[in-house]
Amino acid sequence: MPEITFASLGVDARICRNLAANGITSPTPIQALTLADALAGRDICGKAGTGSGKTLAFGVPMVQNVRRARPSQPTALVLVPTRELAKQVAEVLGQVATKLARVDVFYGGSSMDRQAKSLKRGVDIAVATPGRMIDLMERRLIDLSEVDMVVVDEADRMADMGFVPQVNKILAGTGDSRHTMLFSATLDADVTVLVRRHMVDPVTHAVPEDQPTVATMTHHFLLVDPAERLDYVERMSSGAERTLVFVRTRDSAERVAERLRGLGVDAEAFYGGLRQSARERALHRFSIGKTAVLVATDVAARGLDVLGLDLVVHYDVPEDHKAYLHRSGRTARGGAQGVVATLVPRHQAREVVRMQKVVGLDTGIVQAALGAPALAGISRGEEYSAQPYEVPERRSESSYAPPRRTGSSQWGQRGRRSGGSSARYKVR
Ligand code: ADP
Ligand code: MG
Repeated sequence: MPEITFASLGVDARICRNLAANGITSPTPIQALTLADALAGRDICGKAGTGSGKTLAFGVPMVQNVRRARPSQPTALVLVPTRELAKQVAEVLGQVATKLARVDVFYGGSSMDRQAKSLKRGVDIAVATPGRMIDLMERRLIDLSEVDMVVVDEADRMADMGFVPQVNKILAGTGDSRHTMLFSATLDADVTVLVRRHMVDPVTHAVPEDQPTVATMTHHFLLVDPAERLDYVERMSSGAERTLVFVRTRDSAERVAERLRGLGVDAEAFYGGLRQSARERALHRFSIGKTAVLVATDVAARGLDVLGLDLVVHYDVPEDHKAYLHRSGRTARGGAQGVVATLVPRHQAREVVRMQKVVGLDTGIVQAALGAPALAGISRGEEYSAQPYEVPERRSESSYAPPRRTGSSQWGQRGRRSGGSSARYKVR
């Protein structure tokens, strides 16, 4: 069979050159699946796990097909749920579009004035968060009636964050006949609502479930005394270059980061309430290695693309299986190995085991011990052997809904066992 290349999928030679200039030479599975249809203008629902290359799956056809915009009337629009993601997507599109199209980014917290000026000069592809886009529309700084290409990125996250009404409103302001693409890690009920409402005869392309990133992650679930969680983070992160630690609230992000610094760890907090400039600085320092540990709330859980992240720690047990997947998905990007450790207080062990079941893991939980030197090796993929912890039996209602297996679940496969740990908890 001939090799699938960007060119063989119909990608313009100039775009191929721009991609190659950024080290991108052959399409990922989701790109190989969607590019030809997208270039041909078909409405597309793309489903693939985090780190699978969805940005270029829509970015390339967008740049190739975009029309030149008149002042304040972009012709293409990408909606994303968070500002970090907006910047990331705009940056990637900007690389693809070098000398071909004008891309700019619009999100809350940045200067409205600068954005208005940029729009007046002409922006072909606008990448925006829904809130800011509505602002721009209401102030009549932007006119979307010429938009004939729309992407809703991270549609599941959009729905989770309650953006569906805004998305509806924004899309209502775009051209009647448009090419619409939607990308998501999951295609569940909320996303389906968007699809039905805004897409015409869409083709769904999903990356088969045995390919995505969970297979390249090692999952550890450590039963710990909650009071010792900081020490665990300290030990585990000592073996890692970059550790991302997830907590539930911004207060704990601040507190945990501060207390880690007290233990001599270069740690910084990262959460939604920080000023944009502070968030950017924190991310930058983390990505260049000045900060070893970033303590983040779920705001950072999706879409962020920090390469070389070797360890994700769930300091607070994730809210649900989706949060587990999205937080964990920050590691093992671009085919790299990744390690994920969840610190499990005894009272949450049962809910964690249920969550494992939902995401298709059968790792169980082990009884961790701070004294074990192996903790530092976890981030390097080394084994962590410990006694399995058997959750005592009890009859109770699940706090996790049973998995809704609509078609294929990205995570439906069996994940790898926890770094060869001896734990093999039987899920009842
Ligand atoms: P997703 O949106 O699916 O989570 P991204 O689009 O952010 O994933 O891509 C994840 C990473 O993979 C990025 O670092 C990106 O540069 C890289 N990447 C994307 N497409 C390719 C490709 N065709 N070849 C090599 N790397 C790629
Ligand atoms: Mg993405």
